[in-house]
Amino acid sequence: HQDEADARRLEPAVTRDGHAVEIAANLGSSDEAATAVALGAEAVGLLRTELVFMGHSQAPDQMTQQAEYSRVLAALDGRPLVVRTLDVGGDKPLPYWPLPAEENPFLGVRGIRLSLQRPEILDTQLRALLAAAADYPLRIMFPMVGGVEEWHAAKSRVDRLREAIPAKNLQVGIMIEIPSAALIAPVLAQEVDFFSIGTNDLTQYTLAIDRGHPTLSAQADGLHPAVLQLIDMTVTAAHACGKWVGVCGELAADNLAVPLLVGLGVDELSVSARSIALIKARVRELAFEDCRHLARRALVLPGAQAVRALVMEHC
Ligand code: PEP
Ligand code: MG
Repeated sequence: HQDEADARRLEPAVTRDGHAVEIAANLGSSDEAATAVALGAEAVGLLRTELVFMGHSQAPDQMTQQAEYSRVLAALDGRPLVVRTLDVGGDKPLPYWPLPAEENPFLGVRGIRLSLQRPEILDTQLRALLAAAADYPLRIMFPMVGGVEEWHAAKSRVDRLREAIPAKNLQVGIMIEIPSAALIAPVLAQEVDFFSIGTNDLTQYTLAIDRGHPTLSAQADGLHPAVLQLIDMTVTAAHACGKWVGVCGELAADNLAVPLLVGLGVDELSVSARSIALIKARVRELAFEDCRHLARRALVLPGAQAVRALVMEHC
């Protein structure tokens, strides 16, 4: 199965009834871009930039960051690149960025909240991204956005910087990884260029289970119907406004989740580079119409186990 999948890794992923799903790579560092393309990535759906910042004893300056982002864009050779702005806090510490002592850091100052408290660091990153973008298809994505006001605060910084550093082929979007963002997706969808659903955090916050919990994390299953409902709302809202939706959390690489995500209408699955060939092969086995029906049934099942059993029975 793996050999057959590998042989077709560079071909698109199209269901038996002709529905194409973009298969993209999640990257932790700029070094991985060329490998991801060789392994069949049609895009990068998530470049986590924490590592760009961790390799230094202080926040890297604009030129240092720009060189990294340029390297990825060049390696992708015209394929789209989604770069997530620095997502520090919670499970992602940064040694030289001392975070306030908080009783619940996962519910505290993290992600875009932290960036908006230190806008000079965000602006340096945005300048580096815009300067690296030139004509390349760059998509800037903000993490942990919980509402429209945060989106406005972050987006306005891009708009202001763009006046001095024009990027011709730029999209700006957000991660959907806090339930509040999924719930107001119809409002956000009117303004963003795209959504990418972070199922790792979305599951954690929806089910109130720490994603790294030593005994409970197995129950933090993104196939819980509550999470599927939020994904459904997000996709429906985005498509009503003509916007695209990706999934970049680990659920995108889960064989039982793929038929449901496809059936809910997700346009792009972003997975680790080594999973790309198999996820493409998985999509090719499916029929979109069947997936749509299966997803509708999954939305009203009693729990994640029932959802997994349903998918196992049908595909
Ligand atoms: C997520 O939360 O699903 C996600 C993709 O981001 P991270 O795992 O980096 O928090
Ligand atoms: Mg996340």
